[in-house]
Amino acid sequence: MKAILLAVFLYPLFVIAQIKKAPDRKEGEGPWPQLIIRGVILIDGTGAPAIGPVDIVIERNRIKEIALVGSPGVAIDKAKRPKLMEGSKELDCTNMYLLPGFIDLHGHIGGKEQGTDAEYVFKLWMAHGITTIRDPSAGNGLDWVLDQKKASAENKITAPRILAFTAFGQGSKEKLSTSEQAIAWVRENAKKGADGIKFFGASPHLMKAALEENKRLGLRSACHHAQLHVARWNVLNSARSGLTTMEHWYGLPEALFEDKTIQNYPLNYNYANEQNRFEEAGKLWKQAAQPYSAHWNKVMNELIALDFTLDPTLNIYEANRDLMRARTAEWHQNYTLPSLWKFYEPSRISHGSYWHNWGTEQEISWKENYRLWMTFINEYKNRGGRVTVGTDAGYIYQLYGFSYVREMELLREAGFHSLEVIRSATLFGAQALGIEKDSGSVEAGKLADFVIVDANPLENLQVLYGTGAIALNEKNEVIRRGGVKYTIKDGIVYDAKKLLADVKKMVDDTKAGTGSKIIQPGIKEF
Ligand SMILES: [Zn+2]
Repeated sequence: MKAILLAVFLYPLFVIAQIKKAPDRKEGEGPWPQLIIRGVILIDGTGAPAIGPVDIVIERNRIKEIALVGSPGVAIDKAKRPKLMEGSKELDCTNMYLLPGFIDLHGHIGGKEQGTDAEYVFKLWMAHGITTIRDPSAGNGLDWVLDQKKASAENKITAPRILAFTAFGQGSKEKLSTSEQAIAWVRENAKKGADGIKFFGASPHLMKAALEENKRLGLRSACHHAQLHVARWNVLNSARSGLTTMEHWYGLPEALFEDKTIQNYPLNYNYANEQNRFEEAGKLWKQAAQPYSAHWNKVMNELIALDFTLDPTLNIYEANRDLMRARTAEWHQNYTLPSLWKFYEPSRISHGSYWHNWGTEQEISWKENYRLWMTFINEYKNRGGRVTVGTDAGYIYQLYGFSYVREMELLREAGFHSLEVIRSATLFGAQALGIEKDSGSVEAGKLADFVIVDANPLENLQVLYGTGAIALNEKNEVIRRGGVKYTIKDGIVYDAKKLLADVKKMVDDTKAGTGSKIIQPGIKEF
């Protein structure tokens, strides 16, 4: 999802309005010559089951040793524990759970339209254990993103690691129309230091030339196959030319058509009318080959053989199947900026705010759409295909950080075991980005990027929400469990709840300054 989407392929000379960069870092402690995390239960991201208690020894920003130090329910023999060096730090995490830092494959760093400065977005991500993001389109401009990437890599700001995937054609002085121009742009993009390209679809000769050259240079790529192009270039065409990840789902049903070649558009459909666009999209999966049919199998198997990654971003369409759930999520009140709320509201102009007339009929279509889509995703995983966790937050009532946990829940709903969900969020994300040597699992030698939470996320993924999960204690009182406790990046320990408190303060201050409130669409006041 990106409002500049039309601008990208119609007007290459668009002006980028940038948000404020993150301020110098004041948060976090460390790194230390040695940090020992004591007594934690480890979920390592590889698909291995939980194990503990373990002590994890970190030197500066790398994992040195992972030691099993006892058995559940039995006092730990202190003699067996790794020794703390002088001047080092111990973190008691007895009975807590430790996971690899999460990777968001689809993380736009906000924009002027949303009114979200980088600090707001980065802190929401870090408060949810997200230690790496891929910016799919460099919406604030490549130079801007590369500057924040460098500052994050040096830990001068509180932010996840950033990978920059420039929107295809961004910054070009003329509209790309020849293969030679596409190739020249791809080379220039690599030279500037981008990590890859984000496509939205284009003429077949441009897609082919750009994808092949980008692959030849060893860079990765993402594509949102906008419906304007899918009739002549779908996901299979992209995968065969070297695309590494597909975003969302467009272009996949089109590859699965067998009794038609174009989506069954109503004859008065207009793509620029977003009610049309999203309502009809909800009827698309049922126009594709049925699950487990010969054609469905053939397309899936070819994509898996090409080592192709699905980054479904299920959460970003959830309002389509349950609008009330999305807009009344309990975190909006404290953590959604008024400007962002305004951006979400029904509008004939804002992107992704297409609620001209949305109700039971549209939601039922989308529920059926999800069922077929989820069937494909789950079976793709079962046959050895890679599925990742990406959010596309900042649109359609999905808030940074919170939406990441929701995306995990939706993969669980698709049929993933919780351990498969966590692997998609960590090791598979790292593989899709080509950073698995350093990231994506808790193994000796890798970077010390972790999520620590005081409840078991395998039993209930909701404990990862910043707002935690509701439970009833023995005294019959409603309590909240979880919320990430510590996010560790590069051996630096962040108090995740403090980061979230900073975000709340930003929202409170904005409301106090402007007098704005979050008011439900169409309702002035309760
Ligand atoms: Zn997007």
